Amino acid sequence: MEMPIDFARGISDAREMLDHRCSTARFKERRQKLEQLLEFDPIRGAERLDRLLAIARDRVPYYRALQGRESLRLSDFPLTRKADLRDHFADLISRKANGEMEPGRHFINQTSGSTGQPVRTLTTVETGGMANAVIHERINRYLELPERGTTLSVGLMFEGTRLFEAMPLPRPYVRCNLGGFDPASARIVAEYEATVGRFPVDKITGTSSRIIALAQYCGERAIRLRPRGIIATYEHMPESGRRLVEETFDCPVTMLYMTSETGYSAWECRRGNMHFQDDLVMPEVMPTGAEGKEVVLTALLSPAMPVIRYVTGDMAADTVSCDCGLPGTAISRLTGRARTSLIGVDGAVYSPYSLLAALAAAGIPDFQIIQDEPGILDLVIPFRSDETDAVTRDINSRLSASFGRRQGFLLRLRPSGHFVLTAMGKRNPVIQRLPVPLGPERTRYLAS
Ligand SMILES: [Zn+2]
Repeated sequence: MEMPIDFARGISDAREMLDHRCSTARFKERRQKLEQLLEFDPIRGAERLDRLLAIARDRVPYYRALQGRESLRLSDFPLTRKADLRDHFADLISRKANGEMEPGRHFINQTSGSTGQPVRTLTTVETGGMANAVIHERINRYLELPERGTTLSVGLMFEGTRLFEAMPLPRPYVRCNLGGFDPASARIVAEYEATVGRFPVDKITGTSSRIIALAQYCGERAIRLRPRGIIATYEHMPESGRRLVEETFDCPVTMLYMTSETGYSAWECRRGNMHFQDDLVMPEVMPTGAEGKEVVLTALLSPAMPVIRYVTGDMAADTVSCDCGLPGTAISRLTGRARTSLIGVDGAVYSPYSLLAALAAAGIPDFQIIQDEPGILDLVIPFRSDETDAVTRDINSRLSASFGRRQGFLLRLRPSGHFVLTAMGKRNPVIQRLPVPLGPERTRYLAS
């Protein structure tokens, strides 16, 4: 029996921790550095770009062909794709002549790539971490959020993240970390009951589908939350879902555009255009075919492992000139990142992340999931082996144990290698051919 959740205790402990962390010299130093970067500054942005390209030329083995070249421009560098990051991780790390890496506290971002193999990037707290904090604070200012406050987060998070967390940067907030609402998870239901509607919320953040599920949760229970800002990340938000969120919380949604590889990059202004933060993450909107243009990003604060001309796979309509007052390259629309939920035999909506993580953990290097009927997922792989059979059997028995008979889905092995590509040649990990109803996604059905 788990202990009941004492939200009052949790939130007061987090506030105390927040006060403590904000009083340290380290916090004051980082906050000061953040403030120096807060104004959008295209001249400093150009200097950062020159410096990054010089570091890449001089210290990154992957770019050795450019060594010795004078007056390098961005267009002299090749495009970088996910597969390049995956295949050349070690070669992309910058090293001085004595072998030393860039200074700072290093950390690795890891995502499951579209082929199931992890993609890693190396950055530091002082560079990539700081760029994210600065853009986050620019959004806080744009939305005129209170200097201190509380965030309700329904974003993706690591296992073991505390329910209440003290977040001193970019400005001091207590963050309440909830998973996506899942009526089938007793733990998540208990967390929602103990927190949602129990305290005022200044900001709501999370993935689009989870914020929609939160709005439905609040609507059904007549819970009134009045945040000053709602920041939705990762996926495109359908118009119907957006209306539901904005009406439920009486607050506009601000879309934040980010990639795991380049960090926060752009947000949506009140006229509905996405403004890039060019002085920290330089965008190129490039024609790549008949179907529109593709967003290519260079993370200007990425000296530890330069991410230069990264092909995001996200399509954009053309750049626009927007006179809303926000600086930066603006695009009218971002397309090409669809929600990819799975549909159970019971008609319920399931998040794909548990399954994708289990397949990646089992060592299946190359796969795609295609769904044409509820409850059955075709697992497309290049060829069949004893190992793929064993992995499929194992995951299916875990899925059966987790779901029981009348819920969820099972895998069906399709060793054809016929992967489905988008018109642009991009391979998404999940192809969903069924209509996906709005609603909460069930999560964490497979322990990893
Ligand atoms: Zn604008």
